[in-house]
Amino acid sequence: MNNKNFAGASLTEIHDFIGQEGYGISHARNIAVAIYRKRIRDISQITRIPKKLRLFLTREADIGGYPPEKSEISSDGSVKYLFRNRDGLLYETVYIPEGKRHTVCVSVQSGCRMGCPFCVTSKYGYHGNLSAGDIINQVRNIPPAEKLNHVVFMGMGEPLDNLDNVLKACTILTSEWGMAFSPLKITVSTVGIRPAFEKFLQSSGCNLTLSLFSPFSAERIKVIPAERSWPAGEIIGIMGKIPAKERRRVSVAYVMISGINDSERHLEGLKALLKGTRIRVNLLPYHNIPGDPAKASDEQRMTQFKHELVISGISASIRKSRGEDISAACGLLASGLKAHGRKN
Ligand code: SF4
Repeated sequence: MNNKNFAGASLTEIHDFIGQEGYGISHARNIAVAIYRKRIRDISQITRIPKKLRLFLTREADIGGYPPEKSEISSDGSVKYLFRNRDGLLYETVYIPEGKRHTVCVSVQSGCRMGCPFCVTSKYGYHGNLSAGDIINQVRNIPPAEKLNHVVFMGMGEPLDNLDNVLKACTILTSEWGMAFSPLKITVSTVGIRPAFEKFLQSSGCNLTLSLFSPFSAERIKVIPAERSWPAGEIIGIMGKIPAKERRRVSVAYVMISGINDSERHLEGLKALLKGTRIRVNLLPYHNIPGDPAKASDEQRMTQFKHELVISGISASIRKSRGEDISAACGLLASGLKAHGRKN
């Protein structure tokens, strides 16, 4: 393998590398556009650079990335891909087609160390951070890559626990020399790690969503241990102050479990927590994990919840379940990874 991996490099890094040979920023930009926007995987096909530079890169660099090892298709059209990076870390990526919307749900870590007890990824353990190149690889190297128009950071791992690589990936995704997505088409989901949350807000214009589970701290701690160090109430206070002119979408994800967090008390608590903010609520059905007796709230209760939130002035929507039959839905990624040879 060649020694410099450009698939995941910033414009500055590409420039620094070719600068040693006397080439300038315009050539670096042409290389970046070829890799990210045109998704070219073979250096000989980058035509807008001098032949001598092409020969240098053929010897010294790699732009291809790596393909998924395996895929599984859901009856609803979603596809789950299994990747193994060059360090042997396994992770999964999900493609979700829905009309004109083509979304990729990317992972940021192999496993996760946040310890949320309802999550299969958590049970897989934590095996390491993915690099910005690994994150971008999921957008560049799945078969429907050309169709993608939305990216969500909702796969394996906690994005704010791998902040530097997530920020770098967001820069590559949104830069005009990169993949040129609007930041409003990219959503990063978090349990809310406060220092990283504040840094993300300062450094990126992408959308943010907070996994809430309950408006009550004592209940949230049991399901999202991060609540102990970084209470959701504080994160929501920060989200509520984001000026509307920023245009980014800020939301909370509320996974609904029958008889656990879908009571009138929870509804009133949610309204009180979000009152006067522009934070939206995404209601999601709970996905049952093996051995867990909990059940998703029924459709009627979810619709009532949404209705009550909307009439109290809070934007709310119900997100459909996708990919549950292939364990590609929220909280289910990593279900089959032990079968793929990662040593624990
Ligand atoms: S829910 Fe998210 S943050 Fe919690 S363990 Fe699972 S992947 Fe990690």
